[in-house]
Amino acid sequence: MIPAEIRSDFPVLSEVIYLDSAATSLSPEPVLAAMLEYEHVYRANTGRGVHRLAQVATQKYWDARQRVKRFIGAESGELVFTKNTTEAINMVALGLPWKKGDRVVTTLLEHHSNLLPWMRTRDRHGIDLRIIPPGPDGAFDPADLEREITPGTRLVAVTHASNVLGNLVPVREIAEICRDRGALLLVDGAQSVPHVPVRVEELGCDFLCFSGHKMLGPTGTGILWMRRPEIEPLLLGGGAVEQVTGSGYTLVGGPARYEGGTPNIAGAIGLGRAIGYLEALGMGEVRRHEQALTRQMIEGLTGIDGVTVYGPGATPDRIGVVSFTVQGLHPHDVAHLLDEEADIMVRSGHHCCMPLMTHLGVPDGTVRASLHCYNNADDVEKLIGTVRMIAGGA
Ligand code: PMP
Repeated sequence: MIPAEIRSDFPVLSEVIYLDSAATSLSPEPVLAAMLEYEHVYRANTGRGVHRLAQVATQKYWDARQRVKRFIGAESGELVFTKNTTEAINMVALGLPWKKGDRVVTTLLEHHSNLLPWMRTRDRHGIDLRIIPPGPDGAFDPADLEREITPGTRLVAVTHASNVLGNLVPVREIAEICRDRGALLLVDGAQSVPHVPVRVEELGCDFLCFSGHKMLGPTGTGILWMRRPEIEPLLLGGGAVEQVTGSGYTLVGGPARYEGGTPNIAGAIGLGRAIGYLEALGMGEVRRHEQALTRQMIEGLTGIDGVTVYGPGATPDRIGVVSFTVQGLHPHDVAHLLDEEADIMVRSGHHCCMPLMTHLGVPDGTVRASLHCYNNADDVEKLIGTVRMIAGGA
């Protein structure tokens, strides 16, 4: 059970019904307090400072990293703080040594952040980019995956959970194909890590990218986990070097190699605290809570005349991201009306998935309601009731 009292940790919930957590989640008070404590009590740069504030800041930054590692079961490999998922994916695309003809396989389900970096790599390095289309519910034909992930494929980049349709992608099966064919596997965990217990060893991926700001952490935080830290760092400079002479440099090992410049220290500390918060609730509980609300939402919306719900339906094997349209109304108009009529915050439009929208035949996009642990059945009822009213008047 998720205790109802947690809602008071998110003060804006007394003003609005927040159903836009797939874009960014809210941060609870203890996360804000941890960040403020850094500012008030021990603000200093991390790294080589010897004074005591620098030592405390360095230790807390380190602790935050350990916490994230434990959260995704990353006993080995390298875990690097980034500013978001987008930066993490771009670091891999820009950091691998490509050669013409290397094959990269991705899907039409991807967020632009997991599509554009590969398109640019294709345009710059002449890689052979394959984009596999999903079915209308977001699922893939395993034969398509088997066919496209040829022996010699360099990398497969796939989302773990769709930010439009809410379906979970069978990453473990894909990992097996990748292992078999000698391909690296990058998983975009932006929508899965905040909602589903994720262990990198079980997933079998080589890179896992996700955003701290979608899992109760502050904006400006993200993660790149790498099984083997073999990519070129994106940025060189302070903190990333061991030795510099007038003519050259040697880079440090460890995560600092990939974190040149002063990092988002308060952000990382806030993210560490957010993880502590999620762990105290229990990710299994978070998952169950969201599954029940998702079912309620899908069943309620599906029953309304003129409303079309996209994705795999009310299966437990999905996340709490629900896309729908209301006949005769643009998704932006629906989102405006939900705000005006009932203080409900949802997202509308293409959700940074334009090729998917074209593929699904919804060029104007969808309305997307998305959940996190702080939502409750009343939020969902209010959404369903207001959509019914809007659809009735359309
Ligand atoms: N991938 C997916 C599946 C997403 O949902 C998002 C955010 N909507 C991103 C990547 C990009 O995340 P960020 O904006 O934090 O870089």
